Amino acid sequence: MHKIASDFAHTAWPDIAEAAGRGALAVLAIGACEQHGAHLPLTTDTDLALGVSRRIAAALEAVVLPPIAYGDAWNNEAFPGTLSLSPDTLRAVIIDIGRGVRRNGFAGLVIINGHFGNREPIGLAARTLVAEGLPVVHLDYPHLEKLAGDICDSEPAGPGFYHADEVETAMMLALRPDVVDMSRAAPEYPAFPPTFGIEPLQLRDFNATGVFGDPRPATAAKGEALIEGIVAESLRLIGLWQARHAI
Ligand SMILES: [Zn+2]
Repeated sequence: MHKIASDFAHTAWPDIAEAAGRGALAVLAIGACEQHGAHLPLTTDTDLALGVSRRIAAALEAVVLPPIAYGDAWNNEAFPGTLSLSPDTLRAVIIDIGRGVRRNGFAGLVIINGHFGNREPIGLAARTLVAEGLPVVHLDYPHLEKLAGDICDSEPAGPGFYHADEVETAMMLALRPDVVDMSRAAPEYPAFPPTFGIEPLQLRDFNATGVFGDPRPATAAKGEALIEGIVAESLRLIGLWQARHAI
């Protein structure tokens, strides 16, 4: 039977050729291998970005590329388990993958970013790929701040700062409950140094547990609502991008 080529990694080449031939988009999730407190795994950002990517790809009849499971997590390197790529390496990896996507004949590349530290390398890689002729759009969970305010009960540790908190824990409970240990979920509201954001800082210097906020009120239902909202807004933005490029 002919398999629909939605999952690039588990698809054979003739089906990839068919998908590219009909003008499909490719969706790339970029995460991190980074500490996420005692109750969430190191793969949290990758798991979440991949889960969101799969839903977006299903709606677009696009293919989901194997994710980039490492990111620029420099500021969590003081915690065991964090394995980081330098910004230059991450940018180069994205460019190489994008060139392959273009060579394979896909109409464009949708990047779903699950980790804050990846933003700059992604933006720079996208610039290079666009200059070479590949349409690229990159999204960072659009609308998340509004969705979190509407759906979640705990206060974020900082404005727009979601790390191992109710937001990420809820989304993990919706997508990968098998790797969440709620018995170890505990709150921490660290005091941010006054120079946070204007000098490079290791988070462990002012955060003991790796948690920013309170993961305890997280539920799978909240996570599902957050994901639905992110996917809906992502699809709206991707639609605007597709219209601009007629793809
Ligand atoms: Zn995270």
